[in-house]
Amino acid sequence: MGFSTKNFKLPEQLDSCKAALREFVQTELDPLAIEMNRKRQWSEKLFPLMSEAGLLSLRLPKEYGGQGLTYSQYWPLLEEIAKSGGVCRGPAHGKNGMWEMIHDYGTEEQKKKYLSTWSGPSCPVFALTEPETGTGVDIKTTATKRGDYYILNGTKWLISAADIGEFFHVVCYTGDRSLGPKGISMILVDAKTPGMEIEDPGEFMGGRATAHHIVRFKDCKVPVKNLLGKEGQGLDIALKSFLDPSRLSIAISCLGPCQKMLELSVAFAKERITFGKPIAERQAVQMMLADMAVDIHALRTMIADCARRYDAGEKVATQISMCKLFGVETTRRVSDSALLIHGGIGTCSINMIEMLYRDVRELWFEEGTPTVQRTVIARDVLGKEIRSVGK
Ligand SMILES: Cc1cc2nc3c(=O)[nH]c(=O)nc-3n(C[C@H](O)[C@H](O)[C@H](O)COP(=O)(O)OP(=O)(O)OC[C@H]3O[C@@H](n4cnc5c(N)ncnc54)[C@H](O)[C@@H]3O)c2cc1C
Repeated sequence: MGFSTKNFKLPEQLDSCKAALREFVQTELDPLAIEMNRKRQWSEKLFPLMSEAGLLSLRLPKEYGGQGLTYSQYWPLLEEIAKSGGVCRGPAHGKNGMWEMIHDYGTEEQKKKYLSTWSGPSCPVFALTEPETGTGVDIKTTATKRGDYYILNGTKWLISAADIGEFFHVVCYTGDRSLGPKGISMILVDAKTPGMEIEDPGEFMGGRATAHHIVRFKDCKVPVKNLLGKEGQGLDIALKSFLDPSRLSIAISCLGPCQKMLELSVAFAKERITFGKPIAERQAVQMMLADMAVDIHALRTMIADCARRYDAGEKVATQISMCKLFGVETTRRVSDSALLIHGGIGTCSINMIEMLYRDVRELWFEEGTPTVQRTVIARDVLGKEIRSVGK
């Protein structure tokens, strides 16, 4: 294996690290991602490969064996990983983001149990979304306290990696539903706890080897010591320590595949000859490539600005939503143009464009739809009070 962040003194050597990572992505991650997509089968090689290279602990603090990168140092590396598409981007995004919830709100016992092994190939899961409601205060899952245990009941769905996950961050009501956000808590549930069932809902459009499961809790007994933070803090923990910065990661996850699709389109346009000339010499194709480059440059600039301001502790909830919104809209325009430039063969799975085109559709939903992002932005534009991002 030719790459490890351990070979680099990050962040001093970020540029050389990014170049070496690009090579690792092309030689190690791309072939595995393509094979997993083709076979539609999860590979147990992926987590160990990425963890060995240090890619699952880039933002994890050094005291827990991570690299402790700031967002400004992290995003150029996530951009490279995301060029491999959804199956590799998902683990990097999840592992480099979810640790913050236990780090910020966990007891010493929880930190020892979950964070001391975080840099390894362990797989955490985040469970908020529900089939009958949405992703906010209208959730229905409850945890009722009985002695030293909570009894969990309810159903989650679209839960990434639930089949391979070792522990779940479950967002649920511990208090009266009339309390709204103040009744919501977060409970850590170890996989295979009796009363927990995982169901495969079927194949998804993107990241073909990955799955997003239905998770049912039926009188599932969880020790009270598994409560993260205090009762009533659940939504705050989810938003401030995971979902808000994670929206920025989704924007970065849009940037990587877009840059890759531009690179593939440029190479293809130079090679593909019709009527005696490479299509790259046709003005119509040049205009598409130019528009793709403009979108990508704008997105990269927005991300860099947001990351810098997030690291400086500024309130950037609106700007992060702008990045996520612009990111998914960029994937739509760039993936359409990339497919058109490739012609019909672009829709065949021998071509990476086909995989990336499908994969980027998932990013529309993760961490909130475009409507949710527009709502956050509109509130700010209208001068209404907005939540702060950061702690
Ligand atoms: C690939 C993938 C992985 C995911 N992984 C996870 C995971 O690991 N854990 C997890 O908890 N969730 C996960 N999700 C779920 C994701 O967070 C949700 O799909 C997303 O937040 C949208 O919620 P929803 O699907 O319930 O859509 P809905 O809330 O049902 O929305 C459907 C449509 O209605 C619109 N809408 C809904 N409410 C309103 C409103 N009040 N006003 C205006 N318009 C509205 C939405 O914008 C959308 O267009 C994943 C989703 C995908 C696709």
